[in-house]
Amino acid sequence: METFAKLRKIVDTANASITSEYCSRVCKSYCCRHGRICFRPEKTELVTRGEKLETETIGEWVYLSVEGGCPNLSDNKCLIYPMRPEGCRNYPVSLNHEDQEEIVILIDRTCRAVQEGLLDEYFRQIRELDTVIK
Ligand code: SF4
Ligand code: SF4
Repeated sequence: METFAKLRKIVDTANASITSEYCSRVCKSYCCRHGRICFRPEKTELVTRGEKLETETIGEWVYLSVEGGCPNLSDNKCLIYPMRPEGCRNYPVSLNHEDQEEIVILIDRTCRAVQEGLLDEYFRQIRELDTVIK
């Protein structure tokens, strides 16, 4: 679907536009200290750093609480940044899978970059495609 491919590009570009420098120095990695992250089962060993941490599996996804700090966070930087899980990569803007009936864009408005309007231009582009933003 052409619209989906366009949205995928906008969403990926929006997320990638928030630099690791901004996250670590300005935001102090808020999202790596609150809530839960999700990843595929094959990434469990990497994300938990081989520790026996409590996780929850729902469908194809494994969830790990990062309240108080993700085990991969050091000096406000992600130790596995190039290999970070899909849930971290698709943050703060996520797009559902192409095979689902309705296209939905979810934005986590607790993200500082969102609050400071750094992604507004991308949200404008998304709205131009008549897509629902939640
Ligand atoms: S909340 Fe947003 S700005 Fe802060 S570390 Fe996470 S992605 Fe970066
Ligand atoms: S894996 Fe990296 S990006 Fe994801 S929450 Fe942990 S420290 Fe943050």
